[in-house]
Amino acid sequence: MYVLVINAGSSSLKYQLLNMTDESVLAKGLCERIGIDGRLVHETDKGKHNADLAMPDHAAAIAIVLDTLISPDHGVIKSKDEVKAVGHRVVHGGETFTASALITDEVEKAIEAVSDLAPLHNPPNLTGIRACKENMPGVPQVAVFDTAFHQTMPEKAFLYAIDYELYKKHKIRRYGFHGTSHKYVSEYAPKLLNKPAKDLKIVTCHLGNGVSLCAVDGGVSVDTSMGMTPLEGLAMGTRCGDIDPAVVQYIMEKESISAQEAGDILNKKSGMLGISGVSSDFRDLFTASCDGNKRASAAMDVFAYRVAGYIGRYAACMNGLDAIVFTAGIGENDVGIREKVCDYLTWFGVDIDPALNGKRGQALDVSKPNAKVRVLVIPTNEELVIARDTKSILNL
Ligand code: ADP
Repeated sequence: MYVLVINAGSSSLKYQLLNMTDESVLAKGLCERIGIDGRLVHETDKGKHNADLAMPDHAAAIAIVLDTLISPDHGVIKSKDEVKAVGHRVVHGGETFTASALITDEVEKAIEAVSDLAPLHNPPNLTGIRACKENMPGVPQVAVFDTAFHQTMPEKAFLYAIDYELYKKHKIRRYGFHGTSHKYVSEYAPKLLNKPAKDLKIVTCHLGNGVSLCAVDGGVSVDTSMGMTPLEGLAMGTRCGDIDPAVVQYIMEKESISAQEAGDILNKKSGMLGISGVSSDFRDLFTASCDGNKRASAAMDVFAYRVAGYIGRYAACMNGLDAIVFTAGIGENDVGIREKVCDYLTWFGVDIDPALNGKRGQALDVSKPNAKVRVLVIPTNEELVIARDTKSILNL
């Protein structure tokens, strides 16, 4: 039983075809430069296939993906009718969506209605949904929201301390993102720890280009570091994370720039890139730091200090901590950052084994045997969560 997972951006579209009988990935790829010229990167067991193909819009890109999936040379299925369902990543579900949803006209309208909260993400997500409807009429589609996992947050965690009327009028509150990733690793962790989720207090650390932490108590999200938008919280690749809100007005006045330009600086030119002036990528930062670049070292210090600080905060908020999970590009691969973060947390009972921490590519408890708080590394799999939700909603 095959499920196609789609993650549509403004000019790109990532896809994976999964066989949900055994949860294996048959093919995955990326359509880039949609609306400009068009490029396909497609990968299967047979190898990689790259092609420059005209993609005037998302519907054309989906048509190319489907043709490639059934092509004699690069395909993995015989007919597109074998695709029984499509699961879509949708970034913002607002307060409307507390779980994944079968896409109907009403659901599409509801996604559109919360698009003000994610103007860069929800419209392209909707374009992806419509492009699939056009190419696969009658095939059921499911929306899986980045925000849904965090809808269990209590009011004390999601309210901003601003005029309550602004929350009521404009839905200005904390929502959180990376929900599919936090969900996946927080469901995986109890298996590694051999304990039921209901008895565990976990902090999951999604450290990728975007960075967010989540406090998971008894299997549900009770707090998370991103807010109304993904700009809040930790210092990220190019995003500033938490700053004094007054800084925004100050930058606008001092640099004579618009609100839009200030937003661009805080989203695209801050974080690791902003501090280091080198790169947003931790591999580049590490190389620069080894070469004596002090700003690159400072950026990584800020990053680790803030992650550790948030873990301490969530231990307090949950009144306990059983495990910390590291995931995503940096969390899964950067041994040094994990070590730096854990060095701050020895008082809590964190004690990692350097040899275990040096391993890569597998789900692992990297703590010493007697460590009170376990430290786990779990490779995330957001596409699998989307495919699983799609299968379960459709009762396939
Ligand atoms: P996204 O949020 O775009 O999904 P990823 O989870 O793929 O991002 O994480 C990308 C980031 O992971 C890169 O910018 C880089 O900083 C970091 N990263 C990836 N591989 C490594 C590695 N081997 N060592 C250190 N950092 C890495």
